[in-house]
Amino acid sequence: MDFDSVVVGAGIVGSACAAELARAGMKVALVDIADPGLGATAAGMGHIVVMDDSPAQLALTHYSRQLWDALETSLTPACEYRRTGTLWIAADEEEMQEVLRKRALYTDNGVAAEAITADRLYELEPSLRRGMSGGLLVPDDGVVYAPAVARVLAMQACDAGAVPITGKVTAVGDGRVQLEGGAELRTRRIVVAAGEWSTRLLPDLPIRRRKGHLAITDRYPGMVRHQLVELGYLKSAHSISGDSVAFNIQPRSTGQLLIGSSRQYGAEDSGVDFALMQRMLARATEYMPALADLSIIRMWTGFRAATPNKLPLIGPWTADETVFLATGHEGLGITTSLATAALLSSYFAGRDSTIPIAPYLPANAEAAHA
Ligand SMILES: Cc1cc2nc3c(=O)[nH]c(=O)nc-3n(C[C@H](O)[C@H](O)[C@H](O)COP(=O)(O)OP(=O)(O)OC[C@H]3O[C@@H](n4cnc5c(N)ncnc54)[C@H](O)[C@@H]3O)c2cc1C
Repeated sequence: MDFDSVVVGAGIVGSACAAELARAGMKVALVDIADPGLGATAAGMGHIVVMDDSPAQLALTHYSRQLWDALETSLTPACEYRRTGTLWIAADEEEMQEVLRKRALYTDNGVAAEAITADRLYELEPSLRRGMSGGLLVPDDGVVYAPAVARVLAMQACDAGAVPITGKVTAVGDGRVQLEGGAELRTRRIVVAAGEWSTRLLPDLPIRRRKGHLAITDRYPGMVRHQLVELGYLKSAHSISGDSVAFNIQPRSTGQLLIGSSRQYGAEDSGVDFALMQRMLARATEYMPALADLSIIRMWTGFRAATPNKLPLIGPWTADETVFLATGHEGLGITTSLATAALLSSYFAGRDSTIPIAPYLPANAEAAHA
């Protein structure tokens, strides 16, 4: 079978790419072992957030968040998209300085952000522990149920003519996608969007697995109103090695609270690490003591696909001119899926994209890795 593009992986990133490419008039196949949205997309938190680890990350997350606003009208209720805003919590005066830095950077870049006092923080989120210094409210961030969005995007791809194919891809390269059982798809462009499994197809990719834990409570409507994240998260999320936990809590539209988060390199077992889970929950109750009385109904883990420069790999793979990457999104792939698809589509069409693709080109990550 011949296609203009074959997208390998129907997580949120691959489904977004297939929808965008099919809408651009390409003959697209979207291949996955399973139904759309069952990889890291099903394990993630679904926080749509502008982050400023680097100028390139700020540009990508901000642009993608704008695309989420545009997608909102075509999402189903199952996607549970809500603009809750993010409330970054400053536990002390040092973190309050970080609030001011972040607010200045965000507003300079057109992202609405408001520094708030401790009194205002408690008005917005009464369950937080007393003694915090204040926070930063980013009102246009949101939350979403990502597996449902992946399914919507895969449906949009099919509505625009993409062909869904269920099967395990065993090899890619030279314009050929090999499927288990011997079938072969031929294409001008193979888009590898297989998340953390991308390295099984392309072993030289600079991607490492980074494990994360999440827990979800029973229903406690109204207890938390915004996505709450400790500013210390920045310190822990940035640490390249070592296990880290941080207070990160999300109100679901069901009234449940999704509690995160942890980051681990080198943990290959997908089981829940109860010692780490305990650390994560202890951190959460430091920020919100009432959590200790809530009932947790489920815990799970997932793996993020992490790159050395903490940016996704979007664009041509240097080792094979028929292979293109849309992978390596680490902890921001739900947020940045839509921008990834838009950048790739513009690249294929030979058009300038809304933001430059250059920082995310795989060649740049290889240089950072070298
Ligand atoms: C604990 C945790 C919390 C997170 N929280 C957030 C958050 O709040 N906000 C955010 O933006 N991001 C978050 N993320 C990150 C986000 O979940 C991922 O970056 C994103 O889901 C990656 O999507 P993907 O489509 O690239 O990969 P995946 O969702 O993993 O999809 C890859 C797909 O490829 C398929 N596949 C793999 N190999 C093959 C093969 N050989 N043949 C055929 N198909 C194949 C798989 O079946 C799968 O469907 C979180 C991640 C974790 C683990």
